[in-house]
Amino acid sequence: MNKVVFLDRDGVINYEPGDYTFEVDKFNIINGLFESLKTLKERGYQFIVITNQGGISKQIYNHNDVKSVHLYMQECFEQAGIELLDIYYCPHHAVNEKCICRKPDSLMLEKAIARYNINKTKSYFIGDSRRDVLAAEKAGVTGIQIVMNDSLNNYLNQIN
Ligand SMILES: [Mg+2]
Ligand SMILES: [Zn+2]
Repeated sequence: MNKVVFLDRDGVINYEPGDYTFEVDKFNIINGLFESLKTLKERGYQFIVITNQGGISKQIYNHNDVKSVHLYMQECFEQAGIELLDIYYCPHHAVNEKCICRKPDSLMLEKAIARYNINKTKSYFIGDSRRDVLAAEKAGVTGIQIVMNDSLNNYLNQIN
């Protein structure tokens, strides 16, 4: 079985400006991210991104915008020598429609756990929001809430 560190996107991978990020030129990787991920990779972890993108439901941006940003994010990871196993995003927003994927719900995590044969008890979800931790707990993985835009280096001691 695989062990994974699930990562929220905005505020964990890229700087969260306090608004929606949907343009490649506003997608800025947080300093030191890849050094932290290298350490986790050496501990045997793989990485999957789990992100709410309710701006799609709100028609602030569309699926193609998200795909462009994620293509760019994949390139950044590849250049840093870190493989990103998969990216899951929820395009819904509670103001417009109900779903069971949007965090704090856990469908995105559960899909990934099934598809990639992930050992839940050895996996973590790092997010900058309470709802990330709630989604993690619902899926049976350990949630770690970080300060938005903080370096993951400050939390590596919470991961075995
Ligand atoms: Mg976030
Ligand atoms: Zn959803």
